[in-house]
Amino acid sequence: MNELIWLNGEVMPLAEAKVGVEDRGYQFADGVYEVIRLYDGRPFTLREHLERLEKSAAGIQMPLSMTREALSAEILKFVPRTKVREGMIYLQATRGCAARNHVFPANCQPNILFYVRHLAPLEAPGAGPGAALHTVPDERWKKCWIKSIALLANVLAKNQAASAGADEAAFVEDGVVTECSASNLFIVAGERVVTHPIGPKVLPGITRLVLEQIARQLGIDFVERPVRFEEAMRADEVFITSTTREISWVGKWDAKVVGGGRCGPVTLRLHKALRERILQETGSLAGAA
Ligand code: PLP
Repeated sequence: MNELIWLNGEVMPLAEAKVGVEDRGYQFADGVYEVIRLYDGRPFTLREHLERLEKSAAGIQMPLSMTREALSAEILKFVPRTKVREGMIYLQATRGCAARNHVFPANCQPNILFYVRHLAPLEAPGAGPGAALHTVPDERWKKCWIKSIALLANVLAKNQAASAGADEAAFVEDGVVTECSASNLFIVAGERVVTHPIGPKVLPGITRLVLEQIARQLGIDFVERPVRFEEAMRADEVFITSTTREISWVGKWDAKVVGGGRCGPVTLRLHKALRERILQETGSLAGAA
């Protein structure tokens, strides 16, 4: 497979792309990123992702060398060249290359790149086995609203979950569930969807953003408040969201059955409505069963 990459304005085979060893992303994890889902060759919520990228870059005081509009135009030009229809765009911006020094260099040119990876279309809402969660302590920094490439705490957490036979690591701090290592977490209590507010310990997920809009359209209350672990364990439904998984219902948590061990009716309604929205915005029929 001859994968392509866009690197600082040039398109080339992914295998040939090179960034200097003094790239600050490589040495300090000094950079930010986005993952954007492609449906039938069209990016979903591209504008929202690029807005978040700008906020993340501002959060680490990193000037992006391109406007959102220019980046968007380049992405839309690049994607058809890859021939990938179902997949994701990985987009990364680091502060650039400079002699190693903790202090930001005066004139640093960011290294911006993106490429596309094929992903299998997702199953129909409610189908498939539910996700299993594994509780881990939250050992991340306090700026989790920034989509930083410094993901080591998330990587270790996810590996801990994988070793326990689970799909996702759920961060619990002082008895409160914040989010997961690569997804936002929600419970359903009655006809209410409840999730931790975004901020120091929760990324403003784009799927979360769309879900909030959808919940309001469906007349389902969307409540942002801390959720205690015990409350989550006995919630009517539990689910997680992310760009690559959309919505996954959660059936097990720390090897115990949660949310009745099935995809609950509120989760199902939300997921069907999300698919509908994806279909409207991308014209894609993939996974629209
Ligand atoms: N929270 C974390 C820590 C994540 O890494 C992600 C996605 O990778 C999410 C939440 C979900 O965000 P999004 O819906 O934008 O993919």
